[in-house]
Amino acid sequence: MWSWLWMGAAVAAEPVVCFQPLGRHEPYLVQAAARGVRVVYGFPVQLLPATDFPTSAWTPARKRWRADHLLDWLAQTRPEACSMVVGLTSEDISTTKGPHDDWGVFGLAQIKGRSAMVSSFRLREGARPQQSRLRRVVKITNHEVGHVLGLRHGGALGCPMNDALGRVQTVDRMSGLLCELPRLQIRDWWQVTLPELDSFPWDEFPTR
Ligand SMILES: [Zn+2]
Repeated sequence: MWSWLWMGAAVAAEPVVCFQPLGRHEPYLVQAAARGVRVVYGFPVQLLPATDFPTSAWTPARKRWRADHLLDWLAQTRPEACSMVVGLTSEDISTTKGPHDDWGVFGLAQIKGRSAMVSSFRLREGARPQQSRLRRVVKITNHEVGHVLGLRHGGALGCPMNDALGRVQTVDRMSGLLCELPRLQIRDWWQVTLPELDSFPWDEFPTR
């Protein structure tokens, strides 16, 4: 009986979110993405050593990396200590979306899976603080991590699980914090207590 209870406790351990820099990347954005996950989810994070893309994910016609292929590869090569791996790059990534065979995206994730990809390639630096690439990368990373934890698109304007549909304006409108329903879902599914925050502490993030 005792060991059964102990196993129950072990299953409820917080997920460990690992970050995998891929190809060309900016270390300050990788750091910020990891910190953003700590802020929103409070989960332990780990930075993995940078590596090259697997050449099998290259699409020569568009000169992009296939994000769906990368998700499989990240999940398969995931170190045992990582509950999930988030690949981060400043190179372009794409997937099939609707009628588009090869559609460039900000990010992609396995829903209730093991991996996510985030690219800053399509994120230009804006003039206002909320338009910074750093904030956009942080919000997109937390959106993709939300998918891996099981969340689907939805929520009011400004909620981070809205589908950005390739528009940075949608990302810029997000507060950076999870809305109420996804918070409750993650709490129930993962048996974790998420940090309570009134606003996102952007001041604690380096600008570069
Ligand atoms: Zn999404």
